[in-house]
Amino acid sequence: MKAKKVIVIGAGMGGLAAAIDLARLGHQVEVVERAAAVGGKMRQVPVGDTAIDGGPTVFTMKWVFDGLFEDAGLALDDHLALLPATILARHAWCQGGNLDLFADRDASAEAIRDFAGPADAAGYLAFCKRSASIYETLRGPFIASQRPNPIELVARVGFNKLGAMWETAPHQTMWGALGTYFRDPRLKQLFGRYATYCGSSPFAAPATLMLVSHVEQEGVWRVDGGMAKVAQALESLAISQGVTFHFQSDVERIETRNGRVSGIALTSGVTMQADAIVFNGDISALGRGLLGPDAVPAAKPVALPQRSQSAITWCATATTSGLNLAHHTVLFSDDYKAEFQDVFARQRPPQAPTIYVCAQDRDDACTPPDRPERLLILMNAPANGDSQTYGPDAEAQAKESAWSMMANCGLRLSVDHEQATTPQGFNALFPASGGALYGRANHGPMASFQRPGARSGIAGLYLAGGSAHPGPGIPMAALSGRLAAARIQTDFLTD
Ligand SMILES: Cc1cc2nc3c(=O)[nH]c(=O)nc-3n(C[C@H](O)[C@H](O)[C@H](O)COP(=O)(O)OP(=O)(O)OC[C@H]3O[C@@H](n4cnc5c(N)ncnc54)[C@H](O)[C@@H]3O)c2cc1C
Repeated sequence: MKAKKVIVIGAGMGGLAAAIDLARLGHQVEVVERAAAVGGKMRQVPVGDTAIDGGPTVFTMKWVFDGLFEDAGLALDDHLALLPATILARHAWCQGGNLDLFADRDASAEAIRDFAGPADAAGYLAFCKRSASIYETLRGPFIASQRPNPIELVARVGFNKLGAMWETAPHQTMWGALGTYFRDPRLKQLFGRYATYCGSSPFAAPATLMLVSHVEQEGVWRVDGGMAKVAQALESLAISQGVTFHFQSDVERIETRNGRVSGIALTSGVTMQADAIVFNGDISALGRGLLGPDAVPAAKPVALPQRSQSAITWCATATTSGLNLAHHTVLFSDDYKAEFQDVFARQRPPQAPTIYVCAQDRDDACTPPDRPERLLILMNAPANGDSQTYGPDAEAQAKESAWSMMANCGLRLSVDHEQATTPQGFNALFPASGGALYGRANHGPMASFQRPGARSGIAGLYLAGGSAHPGPGIPMAALSGRLAAARIQTDFLTD
């Protein structure tokens, strides 16, 4: 096949993965990115005289990145120093109790036995078995494949495996399913929180999302040098395959001719021609007309009630006392349901939020550095950053809730420098999302099928990223890029 010209709009995980595969297949690939560097949500925030990871911090599903490098004849481990975590996360509750989850399942079961008794320890092992089985059923046929409809999914899994399909439990809520494994409400909270990895509520998400827990069980890695190194490693891989990058280049318009994409126009006035285009921004930007009128039919925007969660984050340098932080620590309130009612029904930041803290300078020994340490502090928030102003008062109120929740769980902070990002800020960074960080929420049995696949509604325009199939998270977004590249290649071959 003659080499084609492909433009990738956006250098997030999905855009980078698509660019790498397309260049490896021999196409002429140009990545056009509004920001000054690769990474998208995987961004570093300058704070004081340092930089803090202000996006993803939990690196999982290493096999996705191994595959991307291996297919290019290289090895991920030669380009990125990944350190396997022995403590997956530390958890603390304001009503009392601390619990570490470990990479070693038996160590976690023992910790749960001490924390909540033998019945819940046995429940945990049964839960692990079930979440592993859901993941095994869906990994090939759904996660790593082009988006199926429900019937196609059943066919791919195999008509002789209807039992395994039933076990994936899309008909049951995650919260309901967790009740069959855990008696202690704190454990339901801990494992229900995995729904928020897709920006969803455990009270509305299908039990299928229990698989996220298995993903962590398969391995969590810390990245030596910080998460930005992941994006930089993909950028280097892309360049080695022949990809060209254009930074600080904002795409204003996708243009079509005779119903097919023909190129793009930048806000600077520069135009570029293309045989195919991959869009790595939030899919709602297309349907909302942010990429011009020609691109509106490409994808339906996600309306506010269907959006996943946003967040309010603080990147801070601070000295901590009280609770000893692990690299990943989660601090829980005593009323989990109220948090999701605030975020999804009342559309306001939770009054008693769950707080996630990434203590980026700590390893498995959990020793703080001998200087103020770098923290990412995150609370869930509604994705209303395009309709709600988050001024200094709203920010101060959110901070008060977050800091008092941390204090209630025994953690005190003395902050040197901090930089907050609200849903309004996330919406500005990722336009048309309202600040939703994970596309559409996974609420209800059909939500996973409602994310668009790689082909958009316009010939020659393809979708890659966390708002498209198979969904959010750095490995999933990377997979969506690989799926877009594969789709483009098959379409080029058959055009
Ligand atoms: C605070 C936070 C914490 C998270 N924690 C985790 C975690 O621990 N683990 C995990 O796996 N995932 C986590 N995630 C989710 C994960 O970061 C995302 O799912 C993933 O990085 C999204 O990648 P993407 O391919 O969708 O691209 P994005 O990161 O959304 O990047 C899209 C890129 O497109 C560019 N772009 C858009 N429109 C245009 C245009 N018109 N012109 C030019 N460029 C454009 C943008 O500037 C951006 O760089 C987190 C996300 C956030 C924000």
